[in-house]
Amino acid sequence: MQYEAVIGLEIHAQLLTDTKIFCGCSTRFGSDPNTQICPVCTGMPGVLPVMNRKAVEYVVRTGLALHCDISSYSRFARKNYFYPDLPKGYQISQFELPLCEHGFVDITVEGNSKRVALTRIHLEEDAGKNIHEGGGHDSAVDLNRAGVPLMEIVTEPDIRSAAEAAAFMKKLRAIVRYIGVCDGNMEQGSLRCDANVSIRPSGQEAYGVKTEIKNMNSFRYVEKALDYEIKRQIRSLQDGERIIQETRLWNTEKGVTESMRSKEEAHDYRYFPDPDLMPIEFEKSLIDRIQSELVELPDEKHRRFVDEHGISDEDAGLLVAERETAEWFEVAVKAGGDPKNICNWIKGDFAKLLNDNNTQINESLVTPQMLVAMLSLVEKGTISGRIAKTVFEEMYRTGKTADEVVEEKGLVQISDASGIETIIDEILNNSTGEVARFREGETKLMGFFVGQVMKATKGKANPKIVNELLRKKLN
Ligand code: ADP
Ligand code: ZN
Ligand code: MG
Repeated sequence: MQYEAVIGLEIHAQLLTDTKIFCGCSTRFGSDPNTQICPVCTGMPGVLPVMNRKAVEYVVRTGLALHCDISSYSRFARKNYFYPDLPKGYQISQFELPLCEHGFVDITVEGNSKRVALTRIHLEEDAGKNIHEGGGHDSAVDLNRAGVPLMEIVTEPDIRSAAEAAAFMKKLRAIVRYIGVCDGNMEQGSLRCDANVSIRPSGQEAYGVKTEIKNMNSFRYVEKALDYEIKRQIRSLQDGERIIQETRLWNTEKGVTESMRSKEEAHDYRYFPDPDLMPIEFEKSLIDRIQSELVELPDEKHRRFVDEHGISDEDAGLLVAERETAEWFEVAVKAGGDPKNICNWIKGDFAKLLNDNNTQINESLVTPQMLVAMLSLVEKGTISGRIAKTVFEEMYRTGKTADEVVEEKGLVQISDASGIETIIDEILNNSTGEVARFREGETKLMGFFVGQVMKATKGKANPKIVNELLRKKLN
């Protein structure tokens, strides 16, 4: 029997506000434990939460970017449960009246586009962190993260494969980073994804029993964990077993999902409206302002790069994946460079250098204008395309302009035909064997002769002239 996977995601994104959701404590990551806390976020009796306006605006901004309906009236609720990292005994969240509903994200997997519908986006506070270290019997609690604003994004069960889930996460990460509401760092946990997975016989409409997978802190793990879980569920059904509704953890080392708790043990959260917080009511003008401030999003940029700059669909996808790359590209195009040429450098030599040095494009010493100036040296024939690679590497390393590098290293292309001819004559005289073989039809030796000339000129000979002269002399 053929099975189909059904997946819905619940994503938590930490909002990039400077301060927490209900107090003025800093949200900075990586500080010493319990250095960013106060009576409000540690749940002391009698304190009152004060809503962070920015956090609300960030969720609305996200909702607009993801084509949601923004609720003109929404409310906060208490979600009651006990855990040491939650001193208040309840998390302030949203329940029946979230800030945003509906909406969608378009994804492309192997050339096929599809739309994943969103159920809702709501605002809530993060909990602290329990730390179990040293193998002893003690646990410590760090409340720096308690009260950091989180946005929860819930999708409809529209996703049909692990690859689609990973594509969704990549797209969502790009969008929240473009609009500046979340840094998208999955390793540090500022973007977290829980996946609900079930399978059903192909063609069947009713959904199967789902499991919820947690602890996937990279795109790669999202894909691996879901692939594993889908196979596991199919195997179970084929073995005549039943899927039980449970929460499972992805075990990175073993590459498997493992049962954490079954739904029977799940909590009844006894949600009720938080009496300390006023409901939020929006004026349309505020939503209009946030809409008007929205930056161009990856999909729109993608289309524009294809239409305006003649970039291929695939390359445009690479360019828009990070906002910084897309912007760098556009500055270079505005500076007068050929778009395809610029794109080839960005995805080729430049990408390799950035990757090797673990650097972001906007932190590079090479500015878009510097790349364009170098490309124009190639166009004018001052340097060869081959030497350009050496020049670029030096520019990358030192921050010098192409002109400076070419001047200092004497890299100007040799285009003077008589100079090249002298060198060619010498090489042909010293390679009588190869010349004879070439004339007997072993034409692939052309590469050998070109190589010799380039070696003798340290790569500076104009390749077009070299080829012309060699062909003339050998034939
Ligand atoms: P719960 O009541 O368990 O919280 P919800 O209906 O609220 O479940 O859905 C939570 C998430 O699970 C959503 O992302 C939704 O799309 C997804 N989901 C719901 N049912 C299924 C299913 N049968 N298989 C896979 N995902 C599902
Ligand atoms: Zn605080
Ligand atoms: Mg639910």
